[in-house]
Amino acid sequence: MANTPYPESYYAASANPVPPRPALQDDVETDVCVIGAGYTGLSSALFLLENGFKVTVLEAAKVGFGASGRNGGQIVNSYSRDIDVIERSVGPQQAQLLGDMAFEGGRIIRERVAKYQIQCDLKDGGVFAAITAKQMGHLESQKRLWERFGHTQLELLDQRRIREVVACDEYVGGMLDMSGGHIHPLNLALGEAAAVESLGGVIYEQSPAVRIERGASPVVHTPQGKVRAKFIIVAGNAYLGNLVPELAAKSMPCGTQVIATEPLGEELARSLLPQDYCVEDCNYLLDYYRLTGDKRLIFGGGVVYGARDPANIEAIIRPKMLKAFPQLKDVKIDYAWTGNFLLTLSRLPQVGRLGDNIYYSQGCSGHGVTYTHLAGKVLAEALRGQAERFDAFADLPHYPFPGGQLLRTPFAAMGAWYYGLRDKLGF
Ligand SMILES: Cc1cc2nc3c(=O)[nH]c(=O)nc-3n(C[C@H](O)[C@H](O)[C@H](O)COP(=O)(O)OP(=O)(O)OC[C@H]3O[C@@H](n4cnc5c(N)ncnc54)[C@H](O)[C@@H]3O)c2cc1C
Repeated sequence: MANTPYPESYYAASANPVPPRPALQDDVETDVCVIGAGYTGLSSALFLLENGFKVTVLEAAKVGFGASGRNGGQIVNSYSRDIDVIERSVGPQQAQLLGDMAFEGGRIIRERVAKYQIQCDLKDGGVFAAITAKQMGHLESQKRLWERFGHTQLELLDQRRIREVVACDEYVGGMLDMSGGHIHPLNLALGEAAAVESLGGVIYEQSPAVRIERGASPVVHTPQGKVRAKFIIVAGNAYLGNLVPELAAKSMPCGTQVIATEPLGEELARSLLPQDYCVEDCNYLLDYYRLTGDKRLIFGGGVVYGARDPANIEAIIRPKMLKAFPQLKDVKIDYAWTGNFLLTLSRLPQVGRLGDNIYYSQGCSGHGVTYTHLAGKVLAEALRGQAERFDAFADLPHYPFPGGQLLRTPFAAMGAWYYGLRDKLGF
């Protein structure tokens, strides 16, 4: 991975300027070595630094190179499974803790942006759009569920109201979350990295962890150096490969694709999304979109199981965009890119500890912008000896993928095909 650049994307093209960061070429000692400079790693690093730890971050490529610098930019609260499903699996006490935390990630992002003056086009307001009456019924019950956990900011939108916030005729209704919203994801990561450095943290880029020597005082090796630490946080998510085989066995990297139009101009942009909210539909294989700071439409959707890059992203995503907004038929696509997220069988994150001193969080299965920010806080709490919230996540069941690394891709694709068919048939 010699000097890996960012993949070509709208985000890379509009990234805020940053200083070059060196590769690790030395032996260093630290309290915590964080592997991966995406949101999970950066959020962990920031909370630890704010609590007096010495932190060294190793990034295989560049800050935000992974999903954190490529995603749809949607601040979507809660988890990729409903809290009542979680409650049935883990019982009321643990579900209460997880439910209490479900909207915290969005707050953390806003606190970070305000405290460290991060320029990332933050906008409030996210809409879940229902295409069928069944999906609308599900949103109604979700709202009641969240109110049970004290999250009362959600507003149901009937067919007339949703048409006022998004110029798409496909929807029968929706739900607005004003604690949701959107950001320029790479600029958020870059701003958080600068905050890490402002507190004395050190980030090495182009420095992949290639081996972890486990033990009482673990050592992380890179091609040209090593870091001895009291604790390690593994935050490589879908880009980790096989560095920690226990983690690879129970998750699967999946690709998903995004396009960005040319700038639409104020008038057309406002006619699509008058309040500038972001939108995701309620399908299992969902579409999501929003405006950028310079009034392009960013549109994402589709999943490639096993994280192969599709040959022509525009050919996959543009028809989805035109189905939602036929009025964009003459608009040019300026950028198209792909990124990997990490799927788990339960679609819930996997959090835990290997031995006494290697901590990890991975696999939030899609909705990760808020969760990863929360994960950083929860991991930092655990390292400080406050493990109640960490344990609530760590006790969630982790399942290996059926078929192992060889067959997990076709099995998951079959499952997705089934759910995609259900979306199409509306049941
Ligand atoms: C295209 C796309 C669109 C998405 N849209 C949304 C959205 O709109 N809203 C939402 O909530 N979620 C979205 N997600 C999911 C969300 O982006 C992720 O869940 C989240 O960014 C994961 O953050 P992370 O820090 O755990 O992983 P990543 O951001 O992937 O970071 C992992 C980092 O670790 C580094 N790394 C890996 N291995 C090593 C190693 N051995 N040594 C050193 N460094 C290493 C990688 O280079 C990478 O920079 C999307 C994901 C994708 C791919």
